[in-house]
Amino acid sequence: MRIDKRKVALVGCGMVGMSYAYSLLNQNACDELVLIDVNEKKAMGEAMDLNHGLAFAGLNMEIYAGEYRDCRDADLVVICAGVAQKPGETRLDLLKRNAAVFRSIIEPVTSSGFNGIFLVATNPVDVMTRITCALSGFNPRRVLGSGTALDTARLRYLLGQYLRVDPKNVHAYVMGEHGDSEFVPWSQAMVATQPILKICGERESENRISGEGVGGGTVSGICRETLQEIAEQVKGAAYQIIDAKQATYYGIGMALTRITRAVLGDENSVLTVSAMLRGEYGQREVFAGVPCVINGNGVRRVLELNLTEEELEMFSSSCRTLQESFEGVL
Ligand code: NAD
Repeated sequence: MRIDKRKVALVGCGMVGMSYAYSLLNQNACDELVLIDVNEKKAMGEAMDLNHGLAFAGLNMEIYAGEYRDCRDADLVVICAGVAQKPGETRLDLLKRNAAVFRSIIEPVTSSGFNGIFLVATNPVDVMTRITCALSGFNPRRVLGSGTALDTARLRYLLGQYLRVDPKNVHAYVMGEHGDSEFVPWSQAMVATQPILKICGERESENRISGEGVGGGTVSGICRETLQEIAEQVKGAAYQIIDAKQATYYGIGMALTRITRAVLGDENSVLTVSAMLRGEYGQREVFAGVPCVINGNGVRRVLELNLTEEELEMFSSSCRTLQESFEGVL
């Protein structure tokens, strides 16, 4: 990966794509950004609009509407093209419509000579990421999806609110499908160095959080039912937002930017992206949201957490759902 000029090609300049682009600009996360959309006029207008913010940005950035051949020297191709989820529609319902869209995108991207990393946001994201891998023929470690990165952020936010702790100090993951079969492995959830399940009433007197920064709040009231409610809120968040404002985009835009920074900055950061499993958790071939070490080469490693038997079964069940969705699409 070149470090002199960090180039991102964005395919799909809708609400998600442009929230991502706006976030990239505000975080100075790349040096060159090419916008590609089947609606060329829209891509051009979006490029103009972003460029008019450059005078107020921290660093300069080259932003323009382009074509697939502009992907040839990109470090990342980020795909946000597709049809958005409608009220009441599950992510898996979108699969067939978006698979056709991807057939028209992946071929021209690879034909350009692109040799970087694919990052996919289009839903159902785990299956679309697997489709991208299959259509591109790329090494699976160079094809990743946003997976449960956003769900994990929602979980950390809600736990942080409940515990009155900065979400950055909440270490908990959502795993599996970005969708209805996702789950939270509570056995692996921590606040700083304290396991949340221990805080959850098991050693009440020893687990009183106090001191600066957490407002001296107690977490003794937290219980399994509350944790389950929080997990359900995370799962239902997209439906709730779509019901209120038709689509979700700011959160995913920032999640994509976080993953982009991990790749372009060669960070080796742990993020819950959708990655191909190659034996981890007893799964093969399927793409699912798992904590991974992300760097300039894409997925350096899938972290294998010490899940309980019950959690492992939830993960297997989620992977079965994803496998069934994938079968028959290509
Ligand atoms: P949108 O309708 O606003 O934008 C989609 C864009 O894709 C449009 O600009 C459209 O012109 C473009 N497009 C369509 N077909 C194309 C093609 N063949 N080639 C190039 N561009 C094409 O939708 P949105 O709200 O931005 O959502 C985009 C996708 O992101 C959806 O699949 C949505 O479900 C998904 N999404 C994912 C997450 C996540 O966490 N992974 C979160 C929110 C939304």
